[in-house]
Amino acid sequence: MTFAANGPGEHGRSVPTSPKDEAAVKEGFRLASFNQHASDLVSFERTIPDSRPPRCRDKSFDYSSLPKMSVIICFTEESWSTLLRSVHSVLNRTPPELLEEIILVDDFSQRGHLHAKLDNYLTRLPKVTLIRLPSRQGLIRARLRAIEIARGPVLTFLDSHVECNVGWAEPLLQRISHNRRVIVAPVIDAISSRDFSYIPISANQRGGFNWAMLFKWMPVPNYEKSRTGGDPTAPVRTPTIAGGLFAIHQRFFRSLGFYDPGLDIWGSENLELSFKAWMCGGSMEMIPCSRVGHVYRSTQPYSFPGGNVKVFMRNNLRVANVWMDGYVNLFYLMKPELRNEPFGDISSRVELRRRLKCHDFKWYLENVIPELNIPSLQLVASGEVRQSNL
Ligand code: UDP
Ligand code: MN
Repeated sequence: MTFAANGPGEHGRSVPTSPKDEAAVKEGFRLASFNQHASDLVSFERTIPDSRPPRCRDKSFDYSSLPKMSVIICFTEESWSTLLRSVHSVLNRTPPELLEEIILVDDFSQRGHLHAKLDNYLTRLPKVTLIRLPSRQGLIRARLRAIEIARGPVLTFLDSHVECNVGWAEPLLQRISHNRRVIVAPVIDAISSRDFSYIPISANQRGGFNWAMLFKWMPVPNYEKSRTGGDPTAPVRTPTIAGGLFAIHQRFFRSLGFYDPGLDIWGSENLELSFKAWMCGGSMEMIPCSRVGHVYRSTQPYSFPGGNVKVFMRNNLRVANVWMDGYVNLFYLMKPELRNEPFGDISSRVELRRRLKCHDFKWYLENVIPELNIPSLQLVASGEVRQSNL
């Protein structure tokens, strides 16, 4: 397939679709929960705007002093064009000296293009390995499988619908080369699910969470801004990460017991990693000079064996019961229906935490996210108030 240099979506522009494409657009949304039709019109190697703070361009890196990375991309039922644009953006925008390999993990996809057609296409790309899981495992165990074969000292995880921006890899690797116990995340720009335009995002937010165990973007507090001295290129310490896109030293990840393999399909593994990274002697940062675009979407197009709410809540219960000490009761306060829900055996994860001699959750709240509102557990009653219809 060839694409014009000024073709659809070049320079990160939106892809216009005409009314006659309405049926194709609708079908694309049904399959992918984004405008797959628009994505299919865009080159795998399109240009996107450099969204870094301008001063990032002045930084230079000595590649020979940086560790190499294995990029790991797990996918299930991903669209052809978004998957390959993700892979090409890694190959085109990562210095070859720093890229050990790309490991793709197919989490038991059924869509036709992800079988022989994909095998065939990948034979012409360097450094790419594809593993196929014989049954659906979910994102977390798919990643654990990739880690088993990854060779790079640094593991970089990406979603299967991303576009890495210019210079994205170097500042991540540089931070890890200075400090092996820091987990780093790029600033995640948005790729529109409606028209595939590339939308740079303000770096003025960082990861937090609420007591319903939901990840939340929160404004960077003033104490953190003063720590970075107003330098727009300085790493921003973050209490949690969104989880899809980050880099970690393989040895640090191993020392943290990787992920809880009891987590299913999707969700909460980002909080598990965030809590234990901080509580067990490491830290997390967002790196403004590293930018990666991600297609945000409001629903997930793939099946969720066990039911999406049930699986996600079970994952939350596992993580909360291992890491949050008495504060788990705040989660139960928000979700009283989960009080007696089973979440499987967590003894090996509790043992891991004990063995690592981690700080407690109170320490994490006080030192890592002091701005988080902590409701009192001494409540006399809780519930909701409604106006009656008189
Ligand atoms: N994924 C997977 N197996 C699953 C669920 C998700 O491999 O059972 C992959 C998915 O294809 C994507 C990544 O995990 O590359 C993150 O999922 P998604 O993009 O749906 O999460 P979101 O970005 O919406 O949080
Ligand atoms: Mn995603």
